[in-house]
Amino acid sequence: MNFEDLEPLRCLSMKGLICFQSAMKAVAVEQTAPLGNTHMLRAIQQQSPEILDGLDLSGAGIDLAPIPSDWPQTDSSGGETVAFDSQPSPDFVRAMQAAYGVAKKFRLKQISPIHIVCGIVETDPELGPRLALAGATSERLESLCRLEGRTDTSRIPLTQTGIAYDLHRLVVGRKFILGGVELEFEKGPAGHSDGDVLSHAICDALLGAGGLGDIGTHFPDTDAKWKGASSLVFLEQARKLLDSRGCRITHIDAVVITERPKLTPHFAGMRVVLARALGIDASQINLKAKTNEGVDAIGRGEAIAAHAVATIES
Ligand SMILES: [Zn+2]
Repeated sequence: MNFEDLEPLRCLSMKGLICFQSAMKAVAVEQTAPLGNTHMLRAIQQQSPEILDGLDLSGAGIDLAPIPSDWPQTDSSGGETVAFDSQPSPDFVRAMQAAYGVAKKFRLKQISPIHIVCGIVETDPELGPRLALAGATSERLESLCRLEGRTDTSRIPLTQTGIAYDLHRLVVGRKFILGGVELEFEKGPAGHSDGDVLSHAICDALLGAGGLGDIGTHFPDTDAKWKGASSLVFLEQARKLLDSRGCRITHIDAVVITERPKLTPHFAGMRVVLARALGIDASQINLKAKTNEGVDAIGRGEAIAAHAVATIES
């Protein structure tokens, strides 16, 4: 199953789709009985009878006979009490346990059982059409979703992360600019822009988190417009791109690797400057410094590098 298969489930948020996909995979793996989705329906009927109420299930050949309430058993997925048919086969018990486990997982992730029924209607080639025949059309289910307030208007935020690495040579005759702040030093990072390796890494991580490509695509070093530019401009642009896609920056963590100068005393100021460019609070940015223990070009003071991880919500 892939996202294309789930495309008709317009009422699901992206997170809902991911939950749905993983839950369906879990059922497929755990369940050996041939009536997997029927068991899921039975679990739903037990927990949320209103969803299937009024549907002509038996008329459509779907047997969801009531489960006798005097057959209690605790399922394996978390201590929930589940009632099974008398004399169930081991396969049936296992399938029901899987179904209840998945239904429970959905509830924990705030995914409605309606979505499970929706998924069965849309993706089960055997049971789906019969459910639709019984009246469980995707239109009806979507309207139930809306009634429950689980449409995209109340969608659960999706968290995404991006990673980035950047390195610049340190050369004489360049200003040492890092995190939007100029420091006193005998060398500075070579580059088309101001060579701010920390801002570049953060920008690239943000673009990565938003699925927006990389810094070289958006701000090519062949474009005269960016010659000598403050890299804070790149951050502002990245923020605008994320804004336009409804993404919000939640956190940035970065590490700068250089032998000298000492960076830690300057991090507080850098965080304020970076946060201003990104429209976030300085507390959402964490900066760390490392040396390269005298090893390689960085260790010899010939280069400076930075790694960054950005987290966003959409
Ligand atoms: Zn760079």
